[in-house]
Amino acid sequence: MAKPVLMCVDDDPQVLTAVERDLRRHYQSEYRVVKASSAREALDAARQLKHRSVPVALFLIDQRMPEMTGTKLLAEVRGLHPEARKVLLTAYADTDAAIESINEIGLDHYLMKPWDPPDQKLYPVLDDLLVEWKQRAHLPYDGIRIAGARFSPQSHFVREFLSRNQVPYQWIDIDEDSSMRELIAAIPGGLAKLPVVLFPDGTYLSAPSNLKLAEKVGLHTQAKSPFYDVAIIGGGPAGLANAVYAASEGLRVVLIEQSAPGGQAGTSSRIENYLGFPNGITGADLAQRAAAQARRFGAEILTAQEVVGIRREDPYRIVRLADGNEISAYAVVLTTGLAVRTLEVPGIDSFLGQGVYYGAALSEAATYRGHDVCIIGGANSAGQGALFFSRYARRVMVIVRAGGLSPAMSHYLVERINATDSIGVITRSEVVAVCGNGRLQQIVLRNIDTAEERRLDTSAMFIFIGTAPRSEFVGDLLERNDKGFIVTGPDLLKINGKPRGWTLDRDPLMFETNVPGIFAAGDVRAGANRRVAAAVGEGSAAIYSIHKYLETV
Ligand SMILES: Cc1cc2nc3c(=O)[nH]c(=O)nc-3n(C[C@H](O)[C@H](O)[C@H](O)COP(=O)(O)OP(=O)(O)OC[C@H]3O[C@@H](n4cnc5c(N)ncnc54)[C@H](O)[C@@H]3O)c2cc1C
Repeated sequence: MAKPVLMCVDDDPQVLTAVERDLRRHYQSEYRVVKASSAREALDAARQLKHRSVPVALFLIDQRMPEMTGTKLLAEVRGLHPEARKVLLTAYADTDAAIESINEIGLDHYLMKPWDPPDQKLYPVLDDLLVEWKQRAHLPYDGIRIAGARFSPQSHFVREFLSRNQVPYQWIDIDEDSSMRELIAAIPGGLAKLPVVLFPDGTYLSAPSNLKLAEKVGLHTQAKSPFYDVAIIGGGPAGLANAVYAASEGLRVVLIEQSAPGGQAGTSSRIENYLGFPNGITGADLAQRAAAQARRFGAEILTAQEVVGIRREDPYRIVRLADGNEISAYAVVLTTGLAVRTLEVPGIDSFLGQGVYYGAALSEAATYRGHDVCIIGGANSAGQGALFFSRYARRVMVIVRAGGLSPAMSHYLVERINATDSIGVITRSEVVAVCGNGRLQQIVLRNIDTAEERRLDTSAMFIFIGTAPRSEFVGDLLERNDKGFIVTGPDLLKINGKPRGWTLDRDPLMFETNVPGIFAAGDVRAGANRRVAAAVGEGSAAIYSIHKYLETV
């Protein structure tokens, strides 16, 4: 934590030097003394300190300055550092102004110039004020702070990105913190470009992209080498398992992940059916352990990098990233999993991040403490979401099209939901409208048998209505089934005994696609069993085929 600041301001250079010298002499072990020779300079410095989350303990300001009086300046800086003690330096003639400002701006003291000897006229007064400040000050958090509006989608995405990458931050709602609002309003872009992410070094980013933010917080985003044995696309359980096995067996591996390691599993509040964790494990914990394990074996993990294309330049497979860079490898493994399907309801997009969320949005739990929320969908992920939010929300309603939760949801989850009083289930219903003033307040449900409609008050709706494979970017290159899943190995359609375009003498290996050296594993693969263990199993098993392929290049 940086030392708190004592700021002295005076336009007279001699007085400023003298006051700075006296403050340093007595306080420099505990405080940093900052001086400013004008009101403007002082305001800029006060804003900078607020940006960097450095507390100001005391302002010692001359009353007579040409561009702004000391009283006026204290009124301005009070908004930025409300807890700082405020002292005016006055000449005898200014004492009236000083006395008036005791009421006006809550002035703590005024000191008459000259203050010699400081041991008698300066330090005793300031010592008392600083003791008081220490007792009352809420010392600020000195890590990354995100300042934004609670119900803004961009604020939600930035928080989610940092949480999923396990980067600690403090969230500040500018509608509840007027000094932060004032600070944000004063920076370029200001309130129009939220959220603003403030860093301890005094810099900030307004509404940053994942990549910009990742670079700034020190996540690894750029490949160290232009060439690898294996490039893995997607850091879910399948990709991470593939990285662990490939790296542990001595291959040069890069894993490219567009968001954060963990994939869908990383968003799960508790995975209870993964072997070896009898009490379950949170998706975040599993993701962190798996990523650490892969790194320990030497795999490079890039975050916030999206792959937008792959091309073949034998014997290389070249992966193109959204930022324009390319990475070459002998073999590529697609473990891009599934993306959530969106709910087709008019106007729903305008509530994204403002009450409407796809998936579990775990970082929003505290926002809905004591509120009523809905879960849309009836599969296991919806069940986990309902149980998770029931720990925070007053009431959780699960809305399903089916006549009940079984059989789409695992038995253990159905039992747990039935045993939780605060969770209710509405069956045979679908969402047909969303309403609210700036944020979600109500949804309209239609009964699919009777077409009868009813309104339900709700602060948030978490949508879990299925998923679609993330394979569009390889649509021209790889064979996919009618739903977009990537076809591999023996499942590839054969013409005259060979897959389309296949020129090699051998058959495609297990997990190999119709392009030799490009493999697919996990949920994105046609025929995969969509479970964490199955994805881990496929990612691990695919290494056997990759070794076989590498022997041929
Ligand atoms: C909320 C929830 C709870 C679940 N709970 C359970 C459970 O309890 N038990 C269980 O067995 N299963 C559970 N599942 C299912 C399980 O999580 C999935 O089967 C598993 O995560 C699939 O792993 P995967 O690696 O194949 O793909 P994913 O987990 O989908 O990972 C794919 C990764 O690829 C990345 N990616 C995609 N496209 C690109 C691109 N172009 N460039 C770079 N990166 C890209 C994505 O960002 C993602 O991180 C749950 C799923 C969800 C959503």
